[in-house]
Amino acid sequence: MKYKDFYINQLSDLTDDTEVIVAGWVEDLRDLGKIKFLKIKDYTDSTQVIWKVEESPVEVGKLIETINQNDVIKVKGTVRKSRVAKKGFELVAKEIEVLSKSKHPLPLEIRGKIGASLDVRLDNRPIDLMRPRTAKIFKLFSEVLKISRNFFYKNGFVEVVTPRIISTATEGGANLFELSYFDKKAFLAQSPQLYKEQLTMGLEKVFEIGTFFRAEPFDTTRHLNEFVSLDIEVAFADYRDVMEILANLIKTISEELNERSKEYDEVLNEKFLEYKDKEIESYSYEEIVDMVIKKGGKISYGEDISSEDIKLIRDLKDKFFFVTDWPENTKPFYIKVKDDGTTESFDLMFGELEICSGGTREENREKLESRITRMRLNLNSFSEHLKFFSYGMPPHAGWAIGFNRLMMIITGESNIRETTLYPRDKNRITP
Ligand code: ATP
Repeated sequence: MKYKDFYINQLSDLTDDTEVIVAGWVEDLRDLGKIKFLKIKDYTDSTQVIWKVEESPVEVGKLIETINQNDVIKVKGTVRKSRVAKKGFELVAKEIEVLSKSKHPLPLEIRGKIGASLDVRLDNRPIDLMRPRTAKIFKLFSEVLKISRNFFYKNGFVEVVTPRIISTATEGGANLFELSYFDKKAFLAQSPQLYKEQLTMGLEKVFEIGTFFRAEPFDTTRHLNEFVSLDIEVAFADYRDVMEILANLIKTISEELNERSKEYDEVLNEKFLEYKDKEIESYSYEEIVDMVIKKGGKISYGEDISSEDIKLIRDLKDKFFFVTDWPENTKPFYIKVKDDGTTESFDLMFGELEICSGGTREENREKLESRITRMRLNLNSFSEHLKFFSYGMPPHAGWAIGFNRLMMIITGESNIRETTLYPRDKNRITP
């Protein structure tokens, strides 16, 4: 049996009287006796289906009386241009079949008239996705993944998939979920950092898009325990080179979304769209600390910069900027330290939200080992990784974008749960 031969967004291109089969969900019903209307939606759009005494079979009219909102139906009918219909055409029903019934009331209002709380929406995410706005956000999520992948392929990157089950900590112990792995202990990876560095030996330019895990009891609007990371690592590059790649990626995403802005109108942040031809500003860590202090902030040199600190600098609101050359103690062991005690590192911020961090990596085994020791990490637990640095490790640099956070900027949403299909935080592991 054929369920559909057209998606609803294809119907407006058809000539009058074309016979079609569409299938989807009932959004709305109106019964005026001799005329009955229903609105049917699929994942592309919605349209009005009309039943009239003189045009459609009687049994179809009777069936319509039993149909409820969100029932899944299949409609066979003819397309008719109409000046009164909102979309310029309607579908005259010839046959209707109910494929699946929906219980009532639904756990949340899906026509967007009454706002449900975020918790109710997340408890019922598949139903929340029937709200056009939510569906648009996740179609956009897919679009941005596609644009990013295309960008990397066009620039000669190799896509890789590294393990999620690991035996030692990537960055030194904390924040790892432990799991039992047969008779051993294992952990869930917090990032692909060490693997992607190793892979520059054979593949030079790699990227990975995947989920990673942090075992902190976060209770913020920008942290999750499972998040999507978009990582790159490039051989024969330093932090300035990979910052340029990042700026180009942002520009490319902005350009392409400007072209599709009609399709995604209500879920696109104007401020992001400006980056199709706006440069990303860059400040050193020291400059930012000075700016924070000037505005009355309490930070001192060597400390991490908090989002509260950044909020004090009003000029940085709603824009991308790099913060470069962080002091050694603020960055992980694999970041290259310069002679002056700063590092070849950067964060990309949008206002007070950190989107990405990256830098040049230390490729010299001795220097790396001495840094690990200085940071009081256990050298032995990195031996499997460090051994490769004795066999031709190229100079390399890379970064990691928190993809759900990037989507917050692109959509203008202020909670990371709005840009994550099934968020995982300390209170939520279902659905
Ligand atoms: P933060 O300081 O915001 O906690 P981080 O310094 O721990 O982040 P990194 O380890 O540098 O983050 O990870 C790179 C990027 O991954 C971050 O810039 C951020 O966008 C994203 N990220 C890191 N941790 C999380 C998390 N728990 N939830 C969502 N995104 C995250």
